[in-house]
Amino acid sequence: MAQKRLPPNLHRDTLAVRAGIERSQYGENSEALYLTSSFVQPDAETSARRFAGTEEGFTYSRTSNPTVAAFEHRLAALEGTEAAIGAASGMAAILMLCMGLLKAGDHVVCSRSVFGSTLSLIGRDFGKFGVETSFVSQTDLGEWRAAMRPNTRLLFAETPTNPLTEVCDIRALADLAHGAGALLTVDNCFCTPALQRPVELGADLVIHSGTKYLDGQGRVLAGAICGSTKLVNDVFGPVMRTAGMALSPFNAWVVLKGLETLGIRIQAHCAAALELARWLEGRPGVGRVYYPGLASHPQHELAMRQQSGQGGAVVSFNVRGEDVQAQRSNAFRVIDDTQLFSITANLGDTKSTITHPATTSHGRLSEAQRQAAGIGQGLIRVAVGLEHLDDLKADLARGLDTL
Ligand SMILES: *Cc1c(COP(=O)(O)O)cnc(C)c1O
Repeated sequence: MAQKRLPPNLHRDTLAVRAGIERSQYGENSEALYLTSSFVQPDAETSARRFAGTEEGFTYSRTSNPTVAAFEHRLAALEGTEAAIGAASGMAAILMLCMGLLKAGDHVVCSRSVFGSTLSLIGRDFGKFGVETSFVSQTDLGEWRAAMRPNTRLLFAETPTNPLTEVCDIRALADLAHGAGALLTVDNCFCTPALQRPVELGADLVIHSGTKYLDGQGRVLAGAICGSTKLVNDVFGPVMRTAGMALSPFNAWVVLKGLETLGIRIQAHCAAALELARWLEGRPGVGRVYYPGLASHPQHELAMRQQSGQGGAVVSFNVRGEDVQAQRSNAFRVIDDTQLFSITANLGDTKSTITHPATTSHGRLSEAQRQAAGIGQGLIRVAVGLEHLDDLKADLARGLDTL
């Protein structure tokens, strides 16, 4: 079936719907789902060439699959990278990143505020294999600079962070990395390419947990690394073939279709989150509100510059209380009095979620570590979904009004 070629210079919203399509002989309009583990070869010669990598063609879905490839093309088009490679989950993508780039004796500099499993994977698991990591402040560039060593190979950042929405300066970190011959990787899970494109700011690689906003409806696990064709083909592809953290074609298909509505979903999430953050900021019983879209946010200007003028969909706030115990019981009251919000640590869903970081995502830290990280017992994190905002406000007011 003849394919129409895409015209050049398309807008991102168009690429989200059109990039990566390769129609079968049936001319399906919606993307086909190739739910198959292996591919039949026309003859032994062709098979030999494809296995040797001298001819393009699918052989086995651990190596590549047309539905996964469609997702990879579309995500790369949105991030503005030459290529992307899918993985079974966001953590599988970070595992592939570290396996591909690092060896014993290498050094990593990583923000202290990245996703908890990322901290453990890089710090603990790769520490076991002789990779050393320095964890530094999310926002203090001086700490990053001071941590650099001659063997620093990778800088890893995530912005904004969970749950305090701290923003780091991607361009400044890219300059620091490149001055030292290292690579900068940014986990772009919270903003997605709809708001923030780290490679345009100098980052070398972008990590995605497709589980969050790319799917956007809380259905499947998925992940990806976006970057240059050279790194994807020569460094990460071989890791995928041997380690096998492959993205399932079904999950790739779900997330591929999710990308089509990413732009309008993110705009709606952000508009609701900003209004909710402003509403929370004025309420008695509520202490500090953490949201990059608020003028009171310490990195508000940087965030607006870096994130297409939007704050994202995650809002955190402190409920007041006389002491730590009262703060905790007040936070639990607000959470338990909701009838709409889902009590879950997940995010990036049409359904709004609410969680108490101190006893969930950050529950394994000591109280002293939590204090240092700024995660108090009164802290609540919400990820704003797509329900009507008045219903969400009423759901939070039920508990807040009793404090
Ligand atoms: C959820 C998350 C991950 C891990 O993704 P999974 O798909 O759950 O493995 C990584 N980074 C960030 C910022 C996340 O929120």
